[in-house]
Amino acid sequence: MSGSLTVVGLGPGGPDTLTPEAASALAAADALYGYGPYLDRVPQRAGQMRYPSDNREEGARAAAALDRAAEGTHVAMVSGGDPGVFAMAAAVCEQIDRGGETWRKLDVSVVPGVTAMLAVAARAGAPLGHDFCAISLSDNLKPWELIERRLDAAASGGFVIAFYNPISRARPWQLGKAFERLRTHLPASTPLVFGHAVGRRDERVVVTTLEAADPSSANMATLIIVGSAETRVIERPGMSPLVYTPRSAPGAGT
Ligand code: SAH
Repeated sequence: MSGSLTVVGLGPGGPDTLTPEAASALAAADALYGYGPYLDRVPQRAGQMRYPSDNREEGARAAAALDRAAEGTHVAMVSGGDPGVFAMAAAVCEQIDRGGETWRKLDVSVVPGVTAMLAVAARAGAPLGHDFCAISLSDNLKPWELIERRLDAAASGGFVIAFYNPISRARPWQLGKAFERLRTHLPASTPLVFGHAVGRRDERVVVTTLEAADPSSANMATLIIVGSAETRVIERPGMSPLVYTPRSAPGAGT
């Protein structure tokens, strides 16, 4: 019997944003691997084995799932949001790239999910309406100097920027530094969106400015969208504002 490994994106929160394709892939699996809190979001099915792991064990988790698939099991590896965005799909590919022939022969596929950046953007309006990029502020897997270079390039290039992994107990100062850096490129009034735990019970979305942005209001479940000089805020009576980046940049032809 030949096994398979499907890397499945669960979306940002509840079942509403789990795609039908992801739900089918989860239901079809004999064994589920992933970070414990993500596995807890998958409905239980009798006979389906679960292998929760710690958040920091990505490489070992990917290798264990590949080994299990090589034994003939249909394995699903779960990720929050999209599995290809700062998540397990790349960790699985890395293991296959480094590993032997056996893993290269496996049936490996990736099922996309709604990534946090898109979920937060939708709550706020359309901040990603024009050119944008995503940067993980975690310096666990890259040096801080590289993050600073990328911040400079993104802000001076006029991109809207989504920050994943903005802050954690082990990385308390990076977000404040990033804001300081951005203030050298962008107007103080540049709109920012703090999207916290979007799609979950404790969801909170706050629109602020680069000048007023407070790093201590973010945590590991927050995604931050930093506008460009073009991003605008429409205030609405009795409702949250709409943040959007116009479809055309200055200087565009008509
Ligand atoms: N693969 C995930 C991202 C993993 S990195 C995805 O595609 O969304 C983890 C970071 O994603 C968190 O630190 C946070 O910045 C962001 N994030 C994940 N889920 C979120 C949610 N529901 N609301 C806001 N941000 C979220």
